[in-house]
Amino acid sequence: MAGVTEAFEVANDRIAASARRLAFDASVPFLCECDSASCYETVRLPLPEYQRRRAAGEHVTIAAHTAHRTAIAGPGAFGGSTRPP
Ligand SMILES: [Zn+2]
Repeated sequence: MAGVTEAFEVANDRIAASARRLAFDASVPFLCECDSASCYETVRLPLPEYQRRRAAGEHVTIAAHTAHRTAIAGPGAFGGSTRPP
């Protein structure tokens, strides 16, 4: 099911990449990846928690929302090779 939610996963990966580049310490606002195409909630997570969920194939959603799709990004999305020194 391609669409808004999948685009949000890509957007969240970009947000994570930016946060990592900027050495963001606090929680980062990610887009809710739930099944609703009309959801524009944000989820604040520390970057390591986001990366852990991504690596585990879990979606980032607010507590009340769920995502049943398979996450498009797996462990390879981060790979660990782009980590700053
Ligand atoms: Zn949602």
